[in-house]
Amino acid sequence: MRQTANTHLVLLGTSGGPLPSPSRAGIAQAVVVGGRAYLVDCGYGATRQLRRARLLTSLAGVFLTHLHSDHDCDYFNLFLLGWPLLQHLPPVPVHGPGSAGGLDSLPPDEPDAAAFPVVSPAHPTPGLIDSTAYRFAAHAYDINARIRDSGRSDLRELVVPQEIAVPAALGARGPDRVAPAMDPIPVMENEDVRVSAVLVHHPPVFPAFAYRFDTADGSVVVSGDTTPSANLIGLARGADILVHEVYTDEPAGGRDGDHDDPPTLESVRRRRHLVTSHTPLSEVGAVAARAGVRRLVLTHFIPGDDELPDEHWTDGVTGFDGEVVVGQDLLDLTV
Ligand SMILES: [Zn+2]
Repeated sequence: MRQTANTHLVLLGTSGGPLPSPSRAGIAQAVVVGGRAYLVDCGYGATRQLRRARLLTSLAGVFLTHLHSDHDCDYFNLFLLGWPLLQHLPPVPVHGPGSAGGLDSLPPDEPDAAAFPVVSPAHPTPGLIDSTAYRFAAHAYDINARIRDSGRSDLRELVVPQEIAVPAALGARGPDRVAPAMDPIPVMENEDVRVSAVLVHHPPVFPAFAYRFDTADGSVVVSGDTTPSANLIGLARGADILVHEVYTDEPAGGRDGDHDDPPTLESVRRRRHLVTSHTPLSEVGAVAARAGVRRLVLTHFIPGDDELPDEHWTDGVTGFDGEVVVGQDLLDLTV
């Protein structure tokens, strides 16, 4: 890899979960190397945040960790809305998950309950390539009109979706065998950066990836959404920066006086999802320590609405001697 200067990581958005936060943009971050920006995830507001960071016209690649809406909702908006600027750039490769594998990859119906409704039953788990085609079809009128009316380029040529092949020999599948032990998969390499990925444990989602960016200046790993993950620890071994998701239990007493309310089925399921699919603040330090990283950058905050002071997050990290950074939108870190 060629020697570059000023490789850096920009946290574009740091909120976890789909509900837009009043104080944080949706999850997205960019690794900038050799003057080119590689975007990891496209949460709510990612395109605007890229413009605020003056990185949109440096966009050279997109890497989606998984197809939850808080990670990909602005993926197509990036091109649909960024088109006037992006049409002057080379086509942008978008790397991400293939199909989860159909209805059987989703959580099964629950005994003694009505069957879950199924959206798009003929194709209930589209991967990156099909979901991109559906997005083009949904926006065909706007795109066709602007090509004729504004002299725009063919938007389809700007977006190059590429699904990451998971080795079949792993026997990985949703919803219950989502992250068997594996070596990193090579995803992309050029003269500035080498990108690799592993499956992480974010059931029932499959596939869900973490990414590692190796450059001449250092290395950055982005966890995506995961519980503490042995695959991630292997991927992050010795990295300069580990960007890791985190949740914390809400302060005692709950919020907004709702502590007297009995738990609802929705709140019970939400709690179950947090515990079985995400990383608690009390355990994220051990992940960073086992990986031997230099800096731990917390992001994808749940809750993500800034009711908690930074000290809540830093004080909650235990067992890690390196630097802990509480992520905030547009924070720019040199690698
Ligand atoms: Zn997720």
